[in-house]
Amino acid sequence: MRPVPRRFLLPCRYNTAMRHLTLPGTGECLPVIGQGTWGLGVSPRTRAAEAEALRLGVSLGMTLIDTAAFYAAGGAEEVVGEAVRDIRDRVFLVTKVWPSDAGFGAAQASVRHSLRRLRADRLDAVLLHWPTRSVPLGETLRAFADLQARGVVRYFGVSNFDRMWLRAAEAALPAGARLAFNQVPYSLENRRVERAVLPEAQRLGHLVMAYSPLGHGRLGRGRSGAALAQLAAARGVSPQQFALAFLASRPGVLAIPKALQPEHVRANAAAGDLDLTVEEVRSLEAAYPVSGGARLPLLPPYGAFFRLVLGAVRLRYGRGR
Ligand code: NAP
Repeated sequence: MRPVPRRFLLPCRYNTAMRHLTLPGTGECLPVIGQGTWGLGVSPRTRAAEAEALRLGVSLGMTLIDTAAFYAAGGAEEVVGEAVRDIRDRVFLVTKVWPSDAGFGAAQASVRHSLRRLRADRLDAVLLHWPTRSVPLGETLRAFADLQARGVVRYFGVSNFDRMWLRAAEAALPAGARLAFNQVPYSLENRRVERAVLPEAQRLGHLVMAYSPLGHGRLGRGRSGAALAQLAAARGVSPQQFALAFLASRPGVLAIPKALQPEHVRANAAAGDLDLTVEEVRSLEAAYPVSGGARLPLLPPYGAFFRLVLGAVRLRYGRGR
């Protein structure tokens, strides 16, 4: 059976079995499987175990960690800061600016607060978490480009941008600047981004970070789930590993599953070394056809909405900045 062509894939300096891909136009080498942090930092009792799970993941090659100022109102960033305290140089650190902090000054202030919580002096990438209409996109992108010029962030990008928003972002970029990432929902059960977002990313030369790649832990139900289980069993791996390998087989895509249980962390890292065959990919595509339109479901793109949501999260976790 023929293996899937390894477009975008590069040999890498890290000594793990994890496959890597390159950020087009740079020498940047990124693992095809990274780590998510939604739900971390909520309770002080679980923080140490959460940081240990992330450290285990890094040791197994999942060196890209995705977090956000929004997650637990900064609590997740604090856990990441604890996790990477003595391994910062091995980690590609990504965080996100919440849209109520869009705009030049507010976005830069948000990044400063993130850096404090992450105990870091620079970010590998910063993303605008969702599109918003309340502030011109160009102002936030100018803030990111300025941080990049000053060495505070290495790359920047967006999240939850469909093709229409991506084109607006491209048009609003300062001269000479470029988007490096678009982080979007992408799993076997939700292949909607394949309609327009993924082809657009490949055209523009940025990478897609697939979030909720395991359907928020609910992957594998129904008739499609039975087909997935069968294919995975034939290779001696779990359905979740097979599903991650499917995403990692897409050109220009890396997946960021969140896992706290050590056996999940190990399984996800091992999926980064799993090459699917063309036949296996075709079987998965048949079991999980693309559904839904080309537009991504958006949160209401208004500052007032995002301020309200962030206020509620801060209240819930009893946190300021
Ligand atoms: P997910 O990664 O699709 O699923 C996480 C769930 O799957 C957890 O319950 C986890 O369990 C379980 N799991 C992980 N590995 C597994 C394995 N090998 N076998 C079986 N179960 C496994 O969900 P997600 O957290 O929504 O998405 C991942 C990350 O994407 C987030 O953490 C966040 O960083 C990012 N994200 C971004 C956005 C955005 O708007 N940009 C939105 C959502 C998510 P345990 O934890 O118990 O191990």
